[in-house]
Amino acid sequence: MGAQVEALRNLQDVQLQIVDIQQQCARIERRVDAQERKIRTMDRDLEKRHDELRRDEVRLNTLEVDVAGRTANIDKLREHLNTVRTNKEYADIMAQINNEKADTTKVESEAMEVMEIVEGKRQEIAGHDETRAREVARLEELRTELDQLRQTFAPRLAKLEEQKQAVVAGIDPGVVTLFERVSERYDGEVLAEVVRPNPRLDEFRCNGCHMQLRTDIANALMTRDEVQTCKTCGRILFIRTGA
Ligand SMILES: [Zn+2]
Repeated sequence: MGAQVEALRNLQDVQLQIVDIQQQCARIERRVDAQERKIRTMDRDLEKRHDELRRDEVRLNTLEVDVAGRTANIDKLREHLNTVRTNKEYADIMAQINNEKADTTKVESEAMEVMEIVEGKRQEIAGHDETRAREVARLEELRTELDQLRQTFAPRLAKLEEQKQAVVAGIDPGVVTLFERVSERYDGEVLAEVVRPNPRLDEFRCNGCHMQLRTDIANALMTRDEVQTCKTCGRILFIRTGA
């Protein structure tokens, strides 16, 4: 095995440890994101509920103002009763009072209904506020968990990055770029061994994707220290010589 491939194998060892840390953090990051989305959805729902409640409160207020107006009118009519001179006038005003009373009762019962609706909605919103507060607390827990995880990993990650830089320094920059690209695609599993399933046959396969490789690629790997990639999966190939 050539020095370059050896260096790439060292790089992969370090890279796999870095990727493992990144994946452990990413798992919590995804949960934080999901929790944030959940709360945003709750907020939109709450906003809608508050809008509806405000509309009902305005309606209730209008009805209450109406009742107050009618009650004042009844008082005024009653006062007027003291000043009437004829029975007919008296009867007219009494009729007006009775009409107004009947209308007031109707508006009052409507106001009562709306009041119940308003109370119900206020209670619902209070319940949703409590649920939201629990979800926010859960989000804070997850954020703390993520921070702690990052802090725990920070020294090891810094050391690994240092090791990586040291290995990378000895590799051709073009090959490093290729390595990073393949790493991105296969979560750090950049290298694939060339295997020969049947010793009696000159048939070589990529151990990453198990597809057959051209014999000249295997031959090149056995004789020269150069980078060859699998044409199917793109992984960087290596072969154990003398095995
Ligand atoms: Zn392959």
